[in-house]
Amino acid sequence: MFNRQDYVSDVDWQRFLQFSEKLETPNIVINLNKVRTNFIKLKDSFPYARIFYAIKANPGEPILKMLSEQGSCFDLASRYELDLIQKFNVEPERLSFGNTIKKAKDIKYFYDKGIRMFATDSKDDLKNIAEFAPGSKIYVRILVENSVTADWPLSRKFGCHPDMAYDLLVMARDLGLTPFGISFHVGSQQRDIGQWNDAIAKTKYLFNSLEEEEGIRLSMIDMGGGFPASYVDPTNDLSEYASEITRYLHDDFGDEIPEIILEPGRSLVGDSGILTSEIILTSRKNNTALARWVYVDAGKFNGLIETLDESIKYPVITNKDSPTEKEGEVIIAGPTCDSMDIMYEDSKYKLPVSLKSGDKLYWLSTGAYTSTYASIAFNGFPPIKTYFM
Ligand SMILES: *Cc1c(COP(=O)(O)O)cnc(C)c1O
Repeated sequence: MFNRQDYVSDVDWQRFLQFSEKLETPNIVINLNKVRTNFIKLKDSFPYARIFYAIKANPGEPILKMLSEQGSCFDLASRYELDLIQKFNVEPERLSFGNTIKKAKDIKYFYDKGIRMFATDSKDDLKNIAEFAPGSKIYVRILVENSVTADWPLSRKFGCHPDMAYDLLVMARDLGLTPFGISFHVGSQQRDIGQWNDAIAKTKYLFNSLEEEEGIRLSMIDMGGGFPASYVDPTNDLSEYASEITRYLHDDFGDEIPEIILEPGRSLVGDSGILTSEIILTSRKNNTALARWVYVDAGKFNGLIETLDESIKYPVITNKDSPTEKEGEVIIAGPTCDSMDIMYEDSKYKLPVSLKSGDKLYWLSTGAYTSTYASIAFNGFPPIKTYFM
């Protein structure tokens, strides 16, 4: 059904097969070269931007080490992510506390470690920042509507209306903080580049009105993540994103564009991962059923949570794939005793009819939101292991 070469080069595939041959399944193998290449490509596409890797996408230590050596900055969502990144001697100037939902004592924890850049979207959080991180730089996350064209939307829970953002930045100044900028996230795996246009226009409006009415000069736009990884549904190439978004910035801000920050997660690590699962069982629910059930040893609870509502469609290939193999429709499900542990049913995946117990399903582009986005022991199954190549 899928052509492996569209996702993984021959050289990388051979390396992967050798590397993973003896590993117990299920497992995820991350190709660090691919992450490095993606980082460099993003940097070259947006030469004027600073890149803050969103650690949650894949907190694997070899990834953090490599990115910190490449000069990346990091967006943190919890004190635990801060502890993790500090192993790699990243200066506090390269760190931000990007989660708008945080405890007062965690704000203090960040401040004590030297972090001076905080996101917010509410008055109570801002008051806490003023108390426990005095003088820090504040950027306010605004709401953007993105639920239709993003495969994994991040709207509603985060961000506030631009009018509230305005009030928060005035309040930040009055509380002795430094009003720094505006952030937004147009939704993860955002396939409509135009979404950045709307968000940048809202940002421009806030820059103008705050300066004209309050004399507050903002200096930074954090354009979030949302850049694509390679799944089943096609997207534009990153270069297309870059040229369009750069044009939007110049349309609104002319030659003097503010400091720009990007917070990529998925686009840096997604394509670097291959999740290998073994078929436990195949079956038909009655003798004339057209679709087979294929049960594998990875599922929603150990690595594949983003198949929820079949939102993210990973390309799946098998050790039986060949041009001469007959394929048939399958329902692919995980090993646990929860009936939501079904990855694909409506999406009508087709796999070789000769597949049987012990054969392998390779889930491509599984480097993002898999390794830690999982249960620790549901039904006794241990967390999926990640290896770095
Ligand atoms: C998750 C997240 C990101 C990363 O988004 P991707 O779409 O994976 O690139 C960036 N910024 C914030 C604040 C996030 O919560």
